[in-house]
Amino acid sequence: RVPVLAVVGRPNVGKSTLVNRILGRREAVVQDVPGVTRDRVAYDALWNGRQFTVVDTGGWDPDARGMAERIAAQAEVAVSAADAVLFVVDANVGITDADSEVVKVLRRSGKPVVLAANKVDDERGELEAAALWNLGLGEPFPVSALHGRGSGDLLDIILDVL
Ligand code: GDP
Ligand code: MG
Repeated sequence: RVPVLAVVGRPNVGKSTLVNRILGRREAVVQDVPGVTRDRVAYDALWNGRQFTVVDTGGWDPDARGMAERIAAQAEVAVSAADAVLFVVDANVGITDADSEVVKVLRRSGKPVVLAANKVDDERGELEAAALWNLGLGEPFPVSALHGRGSGDLLDIILDVL
């Protein structure tokens, strides 16, 4: 069976951009307007000769009431069907309530989690990335989904846990 990686996180952190980076092609829909990716979309991925499935998640209206809870509920569905989770946080914004709700879901799941500190476009962002140790999920891996910075290292880590 091909292992499944669920990509979760609140809207606009760059999940779909990172999925495209993992795929090496532009297939997941990236939008400046948050909440465009619908529910869960699965893609076939290949890295270092290993095949896996990447599931992009989304579909929330970030302005809706109870947004954090909805994101957490969506993450729960995606995580339950996954072998490992890529949790994406915007390192420039830092930890929000919605991020903390997702962390609770991830803890409960007991699944292996790789923490991506996204939008670290240059080395100045490394400090912000380090602040994500406070999520209590272990080492945050700085990455720029947009420019590809750190994405190879991140993929190596993902395959280690998948
Ligand atoms: P999603 O809602 O989590 O799927 O986020 P998207 O992938 O749709 O990205 C939301 C916005 O963040 C888009 O405008 C992206 O271009 C931007 N973005 C994503 N990754 C990065 C990054 O590494 N650096 C910067 N500066 N912007 C990014
Ligand atoms: Mg998306």
